[in-house]
Amino acid sequence: MNTHFDPSCIFCKIIARQVSARIIAETDALIAIEDSAPKAPTHYLIIPKEHVRDIQSLMNEQFDYMAEIGRIAQQLALCGDKPQDFKLVINSGFNAGQRVFHLHAHYLSGDQLPGLV
Ligand SMILES: [Zn+2]
Repeated sequence: MNTHFDPSCIFCKIIARQVSARIIAETDALIAIEDSAPKAPTHYLIIPKEHVRDIQSLMNEQFDYMAEIGRIAQQLALCGDKPQDFKLVINSGFNAGQRVFHLHAHYLSGDQLPGLV
């Protein structure tokens, strides 16, 4: 069984190119796409290619995804004329606002964004 692909998951379908999305960046481990309903002038989703539900579900060896998410966020922030400030948000679980149950981070940038705390 291929645990990397869940046929009912929209992000797995995007990664498999079965559903189209605006792809911003891609590495062996991750893909970054534009959010179709942006909440900031720049709103990307950073998604591990392997189907993992949320942070609570990560196996020990899968925590490398958290570092990879940080690495690609840094690259996105530094790819323009000047470094972008950004917010990185992971909703992990339904009660935290997660609605697509394939782990992903929101990369938000472009305006002065409110702090959460
Ligand atoms: Zn998935």
